[in-house]
Amino acid sequence: MRIIMLGAPGAGKGTMSALMEKKYGIVQISTGDILRAEVKEGTSLGRKAADYMNRGDLVPDEIILGMMKNRLQKKDCSKGFILDGFPRTIAQAESLDGIMKDLGIRLDGVINLEVPQDLLIRRLTSRRTCSNSSCQAVFNIHTMPPKKEGVCDKCGSQIIQRDDEKEDVIRKRLATYDEKTAPLIDYYSGSDVFFSVPCIVADEAMDKIVERFKGL
Ligand code: AMP
Repeated sequence: MRIIMLGAPGAGKGTMSALMEKKYGIVQISTGDILRAEVKEGTSLGRKAADYMNRGDLVPDEIILGMMKNRLQKKDCSKGFILDGFPRTIAQAESLDGIMKDLGIRLDGVINLEVPQDLLIRRLTSRRTCSNSSCQAVFNIHTMPPKKEGVCDKCGSQIIQRDDEKEDVIRKRLATYDEKTAPLIDYYSGSDVFFSVPCIVADEAMDKIVERFKGL
């Protein structure tokens, strides 16, 4: 199964992708997670990407495309994948079409997660992330707080508010989404694998997705 998750920052792409990874046994590929790991390790790619990320801008297409071309050819993608946060521009979507054509594979689903803007802002500003780059567990101070304040339930590291999850950067990320990523809805909406799902409650969104993929 090969899936693209579309949706604004905070729509729940990461949460839904993780649920689908578990249910269908296919790998979740999050460009945001890959980039954050590169930044943390201080690689040359990470150094190039960090400023864009901290400002709430997109990392340039050529950096992302080189990275994803390699990633999609790794062995763990052979059974399928869920793309979380990629593509994010029309140019990336066109390149993905080319990469998939070269690999002789097709998409089975493009899932557009729909969430009202005020809920996106509330979700993003209340998000906290484990500072350990190999854990990166996500918490929410309202709906899913850690058992002990400031400490990751999974690995015991400190949990933090990411620089790109502070309010001014969040507003910029949402504006970037409207300008550069929302046009992907039109790009894919003519395809029979495209569908939209309200993502207010994750389990309910997941039920709708599972129903849609029955028989695949
Ligand atoms: P995310 O965790 O998916 O919201 O990604 C965090 C940040 O990484 C974004 O705000 C962008 O700066 C960058 N990023 C992630 N995926 C992409 C992409 N496909 N194209 C460009 N920039 C990206």
